[in-house]
Amino acid sequence: MSVLIKNGRVITAVDDYMGDVYIENETVSLIGKNLEVEADEVIDASGKYLFPGGLDPHTHLDMPFGGTTSADDFETGTRAAAHGGTTTLIDFAIQTKGHSTLEALDTWHAKADGKTAIDYGFHMIVTDLEDNRVHEMKMLADAGVTSYKLFMAYPGVLYVDDGTIYRAMRQAGENGTVVCMHAENGIVIDEIVKIALAEGKTEPKYHALTRPTRMEAEGVHRAISIAEVAQVPVYIVHLSSSDALEQVMLARNRGVHAFAETCPQYLFLDDSYYEQEGFEGAKYVMTPALRKKWNQDELWKGLRFGDLQSISTDHCPFCFKDQKILGINDFSKIPNGGPGVENRMSLVYNGGVNSGRISL
Ligand SMILES: [Zn+2]
Repeated sequence: MSVLIKNGRVITAVDDYMGDVYIENETVSLIGKNLEVEADEVIDASGKYLFPGGLDPHTHLDMPFGGTTSADDFETGTRAAAHGGTTTLIDFAIQTKGHSTLEALDTWHAKADGKTAIDYGFHMIVTDLEDNRVHEMKMLADAGVTSYKLFMAYPGVLYVDDGTIYRAMRQAGENGTVVCMHAENGIVIDEIVKIALAEGKTEPKYHALTRPTRMEAEGVHRAISIAEVAQVPVYIVHLSSSDALEQVMLARNRGVHAFAETCPQYLFLDDSYYEQEGFEGAKYVMTPALRKKWNQDELWKGLRFGDLQSISTDHCPFCFKDQKILGINDFSKIPNGGPGVENRMSLVYNGGVNSGRISL
């Protein structure tokens, strides 16, 4: 099966020109001007862009969390991604505490196998890493899992301590792989949450009010400092605030290999959404929480100047009626997450390129 797409505006990481693209058996084999090749199907792309497929490096499909499971599985989630121009996503397998990470990888492969509309890979969420398990990281790398995610948030669930982070980073460095960090001080945040609940503050808006940006910035600073001492690069996931970005910039300015992604929700939404009537605000309960609107300009600036390297979605949808409702009497029980995998490319194009904030 071959397809020839003619007269498109071809956009690559380095080029922008009018041209044709020839695809043989699902692989791009020729790009050029006025290609003279036979094809089973010819598509006229006049007046249209021809982008490479998008890559979303952060999704949670079919993920158990907060007493329920994210509402998209690998079939519906990857279909949505394909409709939005994303042709590869990297999801997260989760190690069950006390069990092998390789077992977790098998579990997640079984969830995805045969169901996906696009390409996919996995990061491994490491929830414990005793010395006798460190060697698994190399085995994961050999199996194609070259990034591990660790959490400074969610004590008692996904949280790992700084010693574990250091151990994982050292080993990741040895293997030429990388640690991704959910950087928020979950220990302090849990204390703030406890106090809020004791004072009867149970509505969705307290999700944001109990997760100060300073606690994100502290996590980012700590993650980068530990990585610096371990002499490895580090990748901060879903960076949401100017305070946190400042820490990444400071580190990069002194030559540390710190990288970070942000997400459309932090570029387009803000904490005023939590003020909506009744329980509506629960739709916007995600972690990190939505921030004050002025942070958005700083994040766009971070993208423009290269201090933020990518835009992921952290796609993790929960249905309002059956799932978000679990937290009707207690904001800390609202499943954290929202959708985005279908809309990422168009949002970034419209809000970024069309609005003159970033270049094509
Ligand atoms: Zn996530």
